[in-house]
Amino acid sequence: MSGTWRLFQLQKADTRLTELDKALSGLRADDQHRRLLQDALTAHEESEAVLRQSRKELREMEHEDSTLRARAKMLEGKLYGGRISNPKELSGYQEELQAVQVRLGTLEEAMLTRMEELETHEEQHRGLTSKVEQARRDHDERQVALDQKIASLEDESSSLRQRRSEQASEVEPGLLKRYRDLLARKNGVAVARITRQTCGGCGMHLTDHKIQEAGRDGLTFCSTCSRILYLES
Ligand SMILES: [Zn+2]
Repeated sequence: MSGTWRLFQLQKADTRLTELDKALSGLRADDQHRRLLQDALTAHEESEAVLRQSRKELREMEHEDSTLRARAKMLEGKLYGGRISNPKELSGYQEELQAVQVRLGTLEEAMLTRMEELETHEEQHRGLTSKVEQARRDHDERQVALDQKIASLEDESSSLRQRRSEQASEVEPGLLKRYRDLLARKNGVAVARITRQTCGGCGMHLTDHKIQEAGRDGLTFCSTCSRILYLES
């Protein structure tokens, strides 16, 4: 096999390896499914914190409510029990009872509002819970697909790398060095295949003389882009 043919095999391998590396880093960086799940979890947690606070406040209101009710009962007992006859004392209890009843009125109103809010919030929270479940299913599904794709590309890449290194070992070291230098300078394409009389690297038309030259042993370079020309026989 000619040196140019061997270099062209290397070129094909290198081109594919570059594609594979690019595809793999794209797949590894693909984290939209993770972000969506994270967003759903964050919204759920925030809503849970609000719910907890709201329930706590309601419990405190309920506690105040029962304390006030007990106090009102006690005051009523004193007022209507008939055991206290001092008018000053009685009017003091009367005033306190009124104040307790006013506070109980506002408290009950506030508790009703809070309970309604809580109900609405609990419903929203159930919605967020099912969103989290959906996001988790989507995430897991996507991750499985990504992992499979990544594994398959990694397989291809590692066997190609193996094959490439075997191919490279068959190329004469000086030629290999020229190839590598060109590869670095020419944007990853050192060897250009000739198709329809044009250079596959730069697209310029090639003379018949150039094409004949490329068909013989030894290296032929494109006069425009300086890449090694490969003529498929
Ligand atoms: Zn060219």
